[in-house]
Amino acid sequence: MVYDITVIGAGVVGAAVAHRLRQVRPEARLLVLEKEKSPAFHQSGRNSGVIHSGIYYKPGSLKARLCAQGREKLYEFAASQKIPHERCGKLILATSPAEQSRLQAVYERGLQNGIPGIRLLGPEEIQAYEPEARGIGAIHVPVTGIIDYRMLTQRLLSLSEAEVIYEAEVISLKSHARGYVIHTSRGSYETKFLIACAGLQADRLARLDGLSPPLRIVPFRGDYYELRPEARWKVRHLIYPLPHPTYPVLGVHLTRMTDGSVEAGPNAVFAWAREVYTRTGFSLRDTLEALTFSGTWRFFIQHWREGLEEYRRAFSKRLFWRSVQRLVPSLQEEDLIPGRSGIRALALARDGKFWDDFYFVTQARSLHVLNAPSPAATASLALAEVIVQKALDTWALCTSVRIGGL
Ligand SMILES: Cc1cc2nc3c(=O)[nH]c(=O)nc-3n(C[C@H](O)[C@H](O)[C@H](O)COP(=O)(O)OP(=O)(O)OC[C@H]3O[C@@H](n4cnc5c(N)ncnc54)[C@H](O)[C@@H]3O)c2cc1C
Repeated sequence: MVYDITVIGAGVVGAAVAHRLRQVRPEARLLVLEKEKSPAFHQSGRNSGVIHSGIYYKPGSLKARLCAQGREKLYEFAASQKIPHERCGKLILATSPAEQSRLQAVYERGLQNGIPGIRLLGPEEIQAYEPEARGIGAIHVPVTGIIDYRMLTQRLLSLSEAEVIYEAEVISLKSHARGYVIHTSRGSYETKFLIACAGLQADRLARLDGLSPPLRIVPFRGDYYELRPEARWKVRHLIYPLPHPTYPVLGVHLTRMTDGSVEAGPNAVFAWAREVYTRTGFSLRDTLEALTFSGTWRFFIQHWREGLEEYRRAFSKRLFWRSVQRLVPSLQEEDLIPGRSGIRALALARDGKFWDDFYFVTQARSLHVLNAPSPAATASLALAEVIVQKALDTWALCTSVRIGGL
């Protein structure tokens, strides 16, 4: 059988794309290929579970626009599908006078981005909202929430009615005039169009398809601690520090999850493997690819101070604890229990700058999602609309016929 469209990757982006394709092309033969044994196995199932507001992003960027749109679509979808979620709100705290001007800058950016209901709080209002948190000022962001992204991914896939084949790693792509033959570890498949949503492997999939992407995926691990059950009461909602001004992370934060547990994290350290989740995980191929890329070294040089700090903290529970204790002073070191890890796909350009916005590349019969960093999970439903529209436009251009007749 020849499939109309094949999606590579069953993370939240691939699942949302398959779901959107089914909405706009009900009759299409859809295939999803996933190398792992279950969906959301990598970034989508190992993230913080936060529905972001969109406060931080550059006004007018795809991230800013699709985060805001995706957030509301996600709340609606989660409610209609009974997926565990909560619009619980969050605090972004300034903990020293030096941070006050940065807090004000984030607040103004939030206003520019049209984030509903944001408010500046003083120390007393902070305590009224979050009794154990301390700060000299804060932004309250009421539209931020939490969700179970693993369940979301599963639901999107099942509603897509696509054929989903697990443990099928795409190992080569052969293009021809009418589409592709996709060779996987589990047999070969024919498709007329291909959409790759491969997360941490996005650059490799693009190269398999003959592209030379101007960026390289470099893995950055994020470790979490869990609060022991007796300490959970110290965190009612979500408590964030101010994001680092130049390092591409939001900072170690405290997050209540949909199951009632509370997590602290994630940090952000260069990882020696793209998909190994231990502190000492190593892959020769991944390490060589990262360290032979000039952009990685330039990134290290530009951020050596933050990188070193992050590394020290990754191996010191005490330093990790101190970061969260700045937000909630009553937290004790023994309240933290080592938890899980996730790995971010950081897309670096040759000049060492990280690719800040979502980024796709198209060819005649394929579209590659080359960069879908946070808040891609929040934005997934809106992002999928853009990806599918772009893919169908590309395909229409290629075949010069209306796609309605797939
Ligand atoms: C620690 C951490 C915390 C985060 N927190 C948040 C948050 O709170 N809120 C938020 O909105 N975003 C958050 N993010 C970002 C968000 O999780 C990601 O942007 C999003 O999950 C990306 O989804 P994806 O589908 O592109 O990638 P992935 O979830 O990584 O999925 C890609 C899939 O492609 C498959 N694949 C790859 N190569 C192949 C191949 N050759 N053949 C077949 N299959 C293949 C992989 O196995 C994988 O399942 C966080 C990310 C991390 C790592």
